[in-house]
Amino acid sequence: MRKFQLHWQILIALILAVLFGVFLKEYVNWVSWMGDIFLRALKMIIIPLVLSSIISGVTNIGNAENLGRLGLKTILYYVLTSTFAIITGLILVNVFRPGVGADLNLEQAVNLQVTSQSLGDVLIRIIPDNIVDAFSNNTQMLSVIFFAILFGFFITRVSGRSNQLLTDFFNAIFEVMMKVTLFVIRFTPFGIFGLVAKTVSEQDDLLSLMESMGLYMLVVMMALALHAFITLPLITRFIGKAKPWKHFNFMKTPLLTAFSTSSSNATLPLTMQAVEDKSGVSNKITSFTLPLGATINMDGTALYECVAVMFIAQAYGIELSFMQQVLVVITALLASIGAAGIPMAGLVMITIILTVVGLPLEGVGLILAVDRILDMFRTATNVWSDSCGAVIIAKSEGETLRV
Ligand code: ASP
Repeated sequence: MRKFQLHWQILIALILAVLFGVFLKEYVNWVSWMGDIFLRALKMIIIPLVLSSIISGVTNIGNAENLGRLGLKTILYYVLTSTFAIITGLILVNVFRPGVGADLNLEQAVNLQVTSQSLGDVLIRIIPDNIVDAFSNNTQMLSVIFFAILFGFFITRVSGRSNQLLTDFFNAIFEVMMKVTLFVIRFTPFGIFGLVAKTVSEQDDLLSLMESMGLYMLVVMMALALHAFITLPLITRFIGKAKPWKHFNFMKTPLLTAFSTSSSNATLPLTMQAVEDKSGVSNKITSFTLPLGATINMDGTALYECVAVMFIAQAYGIELSFMQQVLVVITALLASIGAAGIPMAGLVMITIILTVVGLPLEGVGLILAVDRILDMFRTATNVWSDSCGAVIIAKSEGETLRV
């Protein structure tokens, strides 16, 4: 018998949770602990996951040969496209404001930590004065990311044996952390059941929850579509001088795989095969850019995280200042770099942004219910962006392609 797929399990959990929350309101404490445990488990894996993912990512770039120009171009492409994606999301979420008016009974839970801090302060605090303190304190994720990048970079600057040892070490930890994350993700249906049952049981007006979630999903999907079908093709056409639609046609299989597995990593072999054998990019470029892209280039995830955080802030009735929104953009970019290419990794990362801008972590409960569905769309966008990047970089290196 085929394994019952996670998104179906989640869908069923979701339906059951809504029914439970509506009809068995008074028994909700019997199940809400599942949501609490799930949230705790997510928080538990944040630090080791981010640390190992970023260190191994940076180390693997640094250790590659011909790093210089190729590395710079690749990173430039990743940062630029992810930033475009985030800004697309930010504009749409500010225009449609899907969280506003969503009476989610959350106002009383708001712990008004959102203080207006200057960007200067924020930038200064990226450098931790005590790294152990930063690790043990959930509010200093930016410092942890900063330290991980620095540490990863200098692993590539030490001599043979130490370099090899540390590279292998962090790659291995990352591998294990991915397994731990996947393990935690398996309990998502239960976590969702607990959290959603609780949320629903606290609702006076279920219809408005449905309405506001519907608009939220629509905003995420519209922003993803704009990025995938307008921004990326334009960049591929005018900067890469390639044919984006022909390339898209070659990419159908990996894109559908990305959509159904929600994992850039699982899709990687298919992406490499399509970009290399169909679009005609050399192995030199695919082997460098695509695995890297699957780990750190996540346009869809970056966009999604920005929209999700803004949605949570709107639902809590918190106006984020311009500076705080800039902070969301920067953190969303860093968080998308730190997100693993596995299902729902982006969800774990949202807690980082919430922490950085001082929003309650429990806000994740609001978007959890629809995360898995949106994951399919954002993962396809992630893989599409990786593949466009490989084409553009290959063209800029003078390769003759079929697209
Ligand atoms: N599932 C996404 C990916 O593999 C990451 C995420 O959760 O956003 O690309």
